[in-house]
Amino acid sequence: MSNPITNNPDVRMRGFTSRALVEDVLAWVDDNAHRLSTDPIELADACGRILAEDVIAEHDVPPFDRASMDGYAVQGNATDGAGDYNPLEFRLLGESLPGSAFAGELESGTAIRIMTGAPVPSGADAVVPAEYATESNGVVRITTAVSPGKHVGRIGEDVQTGSVLLHAGRRLRPQDLGVLASVGAPTVNVVRRPSVRVIITGDELVLPGETLGADCIFESNSFVLRSLIQRDGGRLESMRRVKDDRDSITKAMCDTGADVVLVSGGSSVGAEDHAPSILREVGNLAIHGVAMRPSSPVGMGRVGEAMIFLLPGNPVSCLCAYDFFAGRAIRLRGGRSSDWPYPRIAATVERKIVSAIGRVDYCRVLLNEGRVIPLSTSGASILTSTTRADGFVIVPAASEGFAIGANVEVLLYDSPSA
Ligand code: AMP
Ligand code: MG
Repeated sequence: MSNPITNNPDVRMRGFTSRALVEDVLAWVDDNAHRLSTDPIELADACGRILAEDVIAEHDVPPFDRASMDGYAVQGNATDGAGDYNPLEFRLLGESLPGSAFAGELESGTAIRIMTGAPVPSGADAVVPAEYATESNGVVRITTAVSPGKHVGRIGEDVQTGSVLLHAGRRLRPQDLGVLASVGAPTVNVVRRPSVRVIITGDELVLPGETLGADCIFESNSFVLRSLIQRDGGRLESMRRVKDDRDSITKAMCDTGADVVLVSGGSSVGAEDHAPSILREVGNLAIHGVAMRPSSPVGMGRVGEAMIFLLPGNPVSCLCAYDFFAGRAIRLRGGRSSDWPYPRIAATVERKIVSAIGRVDYCRVLLNEGRVIPLSTSGASILTSTTRADGFVIVPAASEGFAIGANVEVLLYDSPSA
């Protein structure tokens, strides 16, 4: 692997002299995004969390042979030949209810009234459903034959003690919690959620709802990032809005308590772009400047165990840099897959997608009946390019783009059913 560390000195008002390759930056993310520790949590709170380890069943489910119909427990072989024109009679010996088993043993020629979920008494091996039986004066008349095992849920037929119920890395579904409960697990070991701090820089920014002063714009990146962090299983530690001022940014970057820190804005080569040089001072700026469009001024590194991502302020760059690198780190640290969290479809290019060799492009596209049309107005500051688009195509560094008729993979912002 070539060295991903872009050895740019202070780039302010000078510009990048080199840019890292996306593949090398992804490798840096993967090498540094160590999975967080295990967190035992109550089953009731575990939906959507990531299993930290395999779960081995400590109990059989069901733990005893049980009736799967309401009716009469019998010896199956004793019902041979029973039918509408040949009812067979059994003496009623007792009753087995859920939670209150019949204490004795079935004798030959007898039946035991039984309800769904109740233990099948020893000596019995089948259940005649109630609709094939009539009961009077302690005698049960049966009008169907049941083979041994019929309408009996065998011990361990759902889960066997010692079997692997769920594998590490699984994102727990509602029914998984049911299965875990069914083997008696009160808690489950999941991966701790990465705590993520967002630092929004930019003296020109005001919040929606505030008065828009001269030279100001409404701040939007925090809203996008907050939702993306949530999507990727992160927990927002804090959202801090700071001035383009070295001391404020340094403090917000260095405070402990976050596994991942995202800095929005100030990552580029402008005079007010302090974040990269601060990160170099207080920790390690591993990468600054990446051969991609948008987001080329993205940077990243570490302060202690915390991974720091410097996301360009331009809203599309911010989204794109998050999705390529920061989201991947949050997912990996939280035990999830590094893969893109977007559904993919194959489609045919209808209008040429232009790129340049040596650079990865994040190209927003429309989909028209399976045909791909790149958006023409799509600069890094045009956030509506991401709301007009159905998804995006990634043009690899080795490609000059895609010609009309080429087959490409489109990553969809929404799943098709959404
Ligand atoms: P910067 O990366 O700080 O140089 O910002 C690049 C551009 O993105 C400038 O036009 C900023 O005004 C704009 N920008 C920076 N941060 C935000 C934000 N949080 N929301 C919306 N626009 C922003
Ligand atoms: Mg700025």
